[in-house]
Amino acid sequence: TDDILKNVVSHAKEYGFVFPSSEIYDGLSAVYDYGQLGSELKNNIKTYWWKSMVQLHENIVGIDSAIFMHPKIWKASGHVDGFNDPMIDNKDSKKRYRADQLIEDKITRYEKDKKLEKAKALQGDLDEAVKSDNLTRLKEIIIEHGIVCPVSGTKNWTDVRQFNLMFSTKMGAMADGSEVVYLRPETAQGIFVNFLNVQKSGRMKIPFGIAQIGKAFRNEVIARQFIMRMREFEQMELQFFVRPGTEMEWYEKWKETRLKWHLALGGDSSKYRFHDHVKPAHYANAAVDIEYEFSFGFKEVEGIHSRTDFDLRQHQEFSGKKMQFFDPEINQNYIPYVIETSIGLDRMFLTVLSNAYHEQDLSTAEKKDQRTVLHFHPALAPVKAAVLPLTKKDGLPEKAREILGDLKFDFNTQYDEKDSIGKRYRRQDAIGTPVCITVDHQTLEDNTVTIRHRDSMEQERVSAKDLSSILQQLTGW
Ligand code: ATP
Repeated sequence: TDDILKNVVSHAKEYGFVFPSSEIYDGLSAVYDYGQLGSELKNNIKTYWWKSMVQLHENIVGIDSAIFMHPKIWKASGHVDGFNDPMIDNKDSKKRYRADQLIEDKITRYEKDKKLEKAKALQGDLDEAVKSDNLTRLKEIIIEHGIVCPVSGTKNWTDVRQFNLMFSTKMGAMADGSEVVYLRPETAQGIFVNFLNVQKSGRMKIPFGIAQIGKAFRNEVIARQFIMRMREFEQMELQFFVRPGTEMEWYEKWKETRLKWHLALGGDSSKYRFHDHVKPAHYANAAVDIEYEFSFGFKEVEGIHSRTDFDLRQHQEFSGKKMQFFDPEINQNYIPYVIETSIGLDRMFLTVLSNAYHEQDLSTAEKKDQRTVLHFHPALAPVKAAVLPLTKKDGLPEKAREILGDLKFDFNTQYDEKDSIGKRYRRQDAIGTPVCITVDHQTLEDNTVTIRHRDSMEQERVSAKDLSSILQQLTGW
């Protein structure tokens, strides 16, 4: 099934969705660039998230905090001491792996081989070791299950060590003389340290939320599965501040709300599931992932965490500034509890692309035929409509450009006059354009055009003056 991922990756490159970073220098591991269509798709996903989180909720506002922050923030948040992954090296291949991932891969292999009892037992062992941070036990498990290095095929392993995932760099002369700053590994802290700024300036009352979309950086031990695990990526996060004691209620509510958000895009609901964490991160008392079934298995796309008052309390202690809210309804000061929803934009991008990608057999008795089509939700499609003059002469290109001119401010459109109309339809299918608009000789007479729908491939004749409202209806939110 990894062939499916391979096809998606090469399709993404061929049509300008995603390129390896620095490709002419042979790339940079786990870093990618979004191309002309990829950046459109990414923007549309962000818009969908922002509209549904910020615009539709009166009590949620959005911010855009800086990537660089005071280094004490990462001490307070626990990331300097605790944001680690267990790392192991193979002595023969000199390759480095995440110990827990090697074991997870083994579980997947047991599942594939229908050794379900073994898979379950191993999962139990892994959970136990992870929960207690038992690095010695992780190594023992790797040895007991004969896990080999994917590159060298040998079992010659080093001990397991902790590896901190934060990137650091230097910033000229800071007040206390230190100069090391970190690239943020999550956008959340930018929200926590602005909690009171936003609450006061926006006159927010609990419960309320602060949302943010932005880059995050993690020095992942091993990069894999394309844009699933990157070293530079983007997050869309909500921190929702609630009265202590009500957090579990809100946790459940946000779980449901977020799953609905995914399903509203029209995906197959059996491809989504919740996965509870056995060991929530250091800041959380409950955590669940929303997982999507990729060709390489169910993987986390979004995390929902009950972060308690951990972060605000830590910042109050480290900064010496009160991080409290006065709740007029109960006449009390308190540090709010927090429910976080955190989704990786790049993983969501891969979810959308994987869901959309389809190789469709259109063969008839007479003729073999196939098309690759991206069945994007129309509101996410990078290009909403393509305007195609049937031929390059008789004034058709001019008429087509006139129609294009009326649409292009409101919709991202393409113009294409090269090759047969059939080939042009297929090119648009391959980038997921919901509607093709064909201009022919009849258009010059009665101002009607043919619109051809991506999914059904059906065609209909409509008046050119209705195009804007038709597109609005077909591709709007
Ligand atoms: P994983 O267990 O896969 O490493 P995580 O549990 O560390 O992920 P969180 O810290 O909960 O992830 O981050 C929230 C979201 O950010 C994840 O659900 C994921 O979509 C995204 N994310 C995290 N790390 C990466 C990465 N290296 N590349 C791309 N997206 C990421």
